[in-house]
Amino acid sequence: MDSPDVIAVPAATLEPFIAQIFNAAGCQRDEAECIARHLLSANLAGHDSHGVIRTPRYIFWLQQGFVRAGQTLTIVHETPTHAIVDGNFGFGQRIGELAVDLGIAKAQQHGISVIGLRNSGHAGRIGDWAEQAAGSGLISIHFVNVAGGELVAPFGGVNRRFSTNPICIGVPLAEGPIILDFATSLVAEGKVLVASNGGKPVPHGALIEPDGTLSSDPRTLYGPIEGTHVRDSAQGAGALRAFGEHKGSGLAFMCEILAGCLTGGGTSGPVEGGKRSRIANGMLSIYLQPGSFGAKEFEKSVRDYAAYVKASRPAEAEGEVLLPGEPEARNRAERLARGIPLQPETWAALVETAKSLGVTPPSV
Ligand code: NAD
Repeated sequence: MDSPDVIAVPAATLEPFIAQIFNAAGCQRDEAECIARHLLSANLAGHDSHGVIRTPRYIFWLQQGFVRAGQTLTIVHETPTHAIVDGNFGFGQRIGELAVDLGIAKAQQHGISVIGLRNSGHAGRIGDWAEQAAGSGLISIHFVNVAGGELVAPFGGVNRRFSTNPICIGVPLAEGPIILDFATSLVAEGKVLVASNGGKPVPHGALIEPDGTLSSDPRTLYGPIEGTHVRDSAQGAGALRAFGEHKGSGLAFMCEILAGCLTGGGTSGPVEGGKRSRIANGMLSIYLQPGSFGAKEFEKSVRDYAAYVKASRPAEAEGEVLLPGEPEARNRAERLARGIPLQPETWAALVETAKSLGVTPPSV
């Protein structure tokens, strides 16, 4: 549960503040605004783990040269229907938009496209990319890995071998897309980050100590966290666990194969020379134009089936069956009305980062 002293910051205040921070750190204004828009989109969806809480770490990565401002895509290999593109370690928010644009353009022309993206800076909430594709009437499927990142133990093991490797599927509908979007770890790393800042604790067993003991303590992943705002997962001795036992672990493995091996971006694994440097997202995305598959009345069929699923009798008296994406849509409506809830620790870290770059924080 959120602590009572949580700060509610209006999205209209927070977004330009975050953009100012990235602008002051060296991003051109349009790129800074793009990063802020996507971080806010994650907060609005309720995924605070991928929202503005990332700002201090992104700025640190920019200052270290792990991520670069002002990058665009390089085409490595291209045919009319598919491409491998390199993000040149640019900000994932900008690089992600460009890669999805390419997938959309090809699928609109040929009915289907596949884009393998490598060397992208952290691409944040993957649901944004499915929403972008759905906005152009396309189904999309995304498999993501994190080259150079090691956070998750495979089923039956304790040593880190995967990252949190999300999978996302989006289906367009006129009234708003259906978006399934989740990490293959039991919780996304950012949820441990939020917990380490005094936010919602992660469930017991989301983490595992080197001796196999299950844990919910963020220190399992980050080591000692007192007195620092930038969390470093290299400092923890333990690991996150994959969801769904062998099944989630198998999906995480396949994300490495599709988003890491096939794109050429590389897999999770020991960092060269044992020295930790940058991490980069890889993403294999498949785009499908429903109309070109001859499926008659696709939207109606989806809508009818979704209504049938939702009509399942709730397991609990006050319960409700939700479709993928419904919690996020509800959060968005509520948070646009009431503001983004931030833990005091998170706000303090943003203020500290802003001041270090000469940006005056808004009063909240
Ligand atoms: P999560 O566990 O909250 O699951 C989210 C998914 O489950 C959504 O599709 C949501 O609509 C659905 N859902 C939630 N509650 C539901 C309910 N009651 N009924 C039906 N459906 C429900 O998400 P997560 O695993 O914590 O991932 C959070 C975010 O982290 C995602 O947006 C993901 O893309 C992102 N992520 C990114 C990276 C990266 O490297 N860029 C890595 C890991 C995760």
